[in-house]
Amino acid sequence: YDDRDGYIWMDGEFVPWRDTKVHVLTHALHYASSVFEGERAYGGKIFRSLDHSKRLHNSAEIMGFEIPFSVEQLEQAKTEALAKSGLESAYVRAVAWRGSEMMGVSAQNNTIHLAVAVWHWGDYFADKMKGIRLTHAKWRRPAPETAPCHAKAAGLYMICTLSKHAAERDGYADALMLDYRGQIAEATGANIFFVRDGALHTPTPDCFLNGLTRQTTIKLAKERGIEVIERAIFPDELSTFSECFITGSAAEITPVAEIGEHVFKPGQISETLVNDYTALVNGKLELAL
Ligand code: PMP
Repeated sequence: YDDRDGYIWMDGEFVPWRDTKVHVLTHALHYASSVFEGERAYGGKIFRSLDHSKRLHNSAEIMGFEIPFSVEQLEQAKTEALAKSGLESAYVRAVAWRGSEMMGVSAQNNTIHLAVAVWHWGDYFADKMKGIRLTHAKWRRPAPETAPCHAKAAGLYMICTLSKHAAERDGYADALMLDYRGQIAEATGANIFFVRDGALHTPTPDCFLNGLTRQTTIKLAKERGIEVIERAIFPDELSTFSECFITGSAAEITPVAEIGEHVFKPGQISETLVNDYTALVNGKLELAL
């Protein structure tokens, strides 16, 4: 992703894409002191942009550092970066990290950096309406006492990349991760929902990200009069669900056709919510968020 034309907003100015370099002794590279956002723009407008900007600031706060640009300045940077990209539909990546002045676990005084890159990113999964295939991940989401699980922090993605790579090696699109208690948690970059008897069931986000798309999906479902039940869900219930889908800013709403030995059929509820989500992000549906 580094060798291309264009500009990336970095620390207050636009820098040619190829020149947005960091030093090899950057603290974030060694100790994962980095937080980020993944967002999508539709028709030239970033969906839930302000919520993403606030979450980036909150993630930084959880990680013990302050981003030297306000939420408003970040909003401005994202708007300008999208405009400069010339794209209407795009993926927006904001990232903040500890710099390279001090090396060691302690880096109290390192400069905090902020960058915003915008590029074209089509569907997160190929053929997504057919339903993707998930396998079971070997890694579990850590307990809230073990890691800052509500920050969108780089360090938490170590087990996600391991799980996703293992899944892809075996021919699956992604992996279902359990949490430290053995309850169903989420996929490697998206939250998960199930359908049983016309109601939605989704794990309580007490040790993983309560995704913005998850929250949007719950509101869309309630608008449709679909009951939404947030609760602890165990893997032995998988055979009792008829539909399944995952949600995320990149993944949007993606139906799931398989989790290991369990088969789901993308059905009416998944299709309704996919269509409603598409209408909403494209400004064709009103919803108080
Ligand atoms: N869980 C993980 C691990 C993620 O990376 C993401 C994507 N940010 C989500 C859930 C969904 O979050 P959102 O809907 O806010 O994009």
